[in-house]
Amino acid sequence: MSKPAPQPSHKPPPSIRIMCPNLVCKAVLAVPSIARGKMVRCKSCGTCIRVPDAAGGETSAA
Ligand SMILES: [Zn+2]
Repeated sequence: MSKPAPQPSHKPPPSIRIMCPNLVCKAVLAVPSIARGKMVRCKSCGTCIRVPDAAGGETSAA
């Protein structure tokens, strides 16, 4: 018997696409959403880019 096993769809982590602010680079980087508010480095030119926080109003009370 060979019945298709219902495999749980492995969803990749949500990623954010940001564009390198370097005008001579403008590479589009896909960074994981967990990188929000952090600095990432462009693979093309090495520019440090700050990943924007979630747009909206996610208020995390301290
Ligand atoms: Zn770049």
